[in-house]
Amino acid sequence: MLSPGSCVQTGRGLPGAMDKIKATVERARAAFNTGKSRPVEFRIQQLQALKRMVEEKEKDIAEALEADLHKNKYSAFSYEIMGVLGEINLAVEKLPEWVAPRHVPKTVMTLADESYVRSEPLGVVLVIGAWNYPFVLVMQPLIGAIVAGNAVVVKPSEVSEHTSKLFETLLPQYIDKDLYPVVTGAVLETTELLKQRFDHILYTGNGHVGKIVMAAASKHLTPVTLELGGKSPCYIDKDCNIDMASRRITWGKFVNCGQTCIAPDYILCDKSIEGRVVESIKKNLKEFYGEDIQKSPDYERIVNKRHFKRIMGLLEGQKIAYGGEADEATCFIAPTILTDVNPDSKVMQEEIFGPILPIVTVKGLDEAIQFINQREKPLALYVFSDNKKVIKKMIAETSSGGVTANDVLMHFSVPTLPFGGVGNSGMGCYHGRYSFETFSHQRSCLIRALNMEVVNSIRYPPNSQKKVDWAKFFILTRFCKRKVGLVALAVLGILVAIVIKVAVF
Ligand code: NAD
Repeated sequence: MLSPGSCVQTGRGLPGAMDKIKATVERARAAFNTGKSRPVEFRIQQLQALKRMVEEKEKDIAEALEADLHKNKYSAFSYEIMGVLGEINLAVEKLPEWVAPRHVPKTVMTLADESYVRSEPLGVVLVIGAWNYPFVLVMQPLIGAIVAGNAVVVKPSEVSEHTSKLFETLLPQYIDKDLYPVVTGAVLETTELLKQRFDHILYTGNGHVGKIVMAAASKHLTPVTLELGGKSPCYIDKDCNIDMASRRITWGKFVNCGQTCIAPDYILCDKSIEGRVVESIKKNLKEFYGEDIQKSPDYERIVNKRHFKRIMGLLEGQKIAYGGEADEATCFIAPTILTDVNPDSKVMQEEIFGPILPIVTVKGLDEAIQFINQREKPLALYVFSDNKKVIKKMIAETSSGGVTANDVLMHFSVPTLPFGGVGNSGMGCYHGRYSFETFSHQRSCLIRALNMEVVNSIRYPPNSQKKVDWAKFFILTRFCKRKVGLVALAVLGILVAIVIKVAVF
């Protein structure tokens, strides 16, 4: 199944278990220090191995996702596997372009020199995954960190234990065991991992643990990317196709049983359209999942009893306009719509992360904007309107990690858009090129020649007003490329040398 030492499942309380974690990180660092993760060919080879893994083990991956979250094979492919394959294909195609040194415009004083930005691997990266999309949320950062040439310690979430086990089994079969080890386990193991020194940590999960991760990282001055959650609002303007808006919202809210970090958490709309929104969502639910949703193969389950109880607790004292049925034994909670929701009630205080959709009424766009701005910055924001001005105003006057207008979730699927939160919903971003940048150091490189020393005279003592005046002229004057032209700049550079020689000496 796997070779010894490639994965660590410590087993709580085992003597030396924590030492194994330390040794795993040390081995990843030693492997990184050999330089083998750096060549572009090696990175591409590892990515292709990952692609082979996904293609060959698609059935196993789907089964693990079914066992963890009741996802069927179609959902497993559409929401977890396809994105991973797309990310690998993009990275393999673009990697040579991304790693190429980026030459940058020069100053007059460095006209004859070479100046460029070189993207370098950071070292050993820790990727801590979450359970709600347990495959893609580990694979996408892993791909990004490999693309950037790093070693990566992978820590899947213990909550999605089947997928976690699968990572432990599969990754060492396909990619370098020393560079990319898997550590499984729960809080104890993650806590131990966080004591180790990493060069970057990408954590996906809730904000409470996000603070623990950041505090641990600060001990080593390790930069972090925190992919957190929060309450993502969804404003429906009166001036919009309500049936279409409700259809898209129904999909994005109830996919994965509402356990999606960018799911619309609640709806804001005018009281006059609330009834139509409810009716339209009910109609869509029947169309998507049939009359008996509990029997639908397309409707997932809450991940465990703890979350089941937490979500059911949010219903206390609420007016249920639709749904509300639940079965603790199978962690089933029906899609549920709440109306007349008090903004101060519990369901409006924490991220729901389940299939409950509160509708809060507001008197138009300005009040919706005010409502959003009075709360923490969300991970995603949705606005539905036929009026472009409404959309632009909502975007201009609020802040969020990402925004999609007239749909939900879809900004996540565009690899040319950065994915990440802001404020309480996270920091940093990834996906596509942004992953490569997140896991790279942008190194400034200036290669000078040891001649033309006369140009440097203005910076050497003894200082004088004349030197300052020349420095001001040459360094602070902005040369507009279009006006002066590159040739003129080159001539100017030569003149600099002559003028300085005459003027300064
Ligand atoms: P989780 O319980 O799986 O925790 C995530 C990771 O943190 C796990 O690997 C776990 O081992 C570790 N962990 C848990 N407690 C810890 C502790 N005390 N110390 C150290 N490590 C600890 O996932 P979760 O937090 O329940 O995930 C749900 C949250 O994640 C929601 O808020 C959701 O919005 C957010 N989320 C965000 C994104 C995103 O991309 N921004 C994606 C998915 C989920």
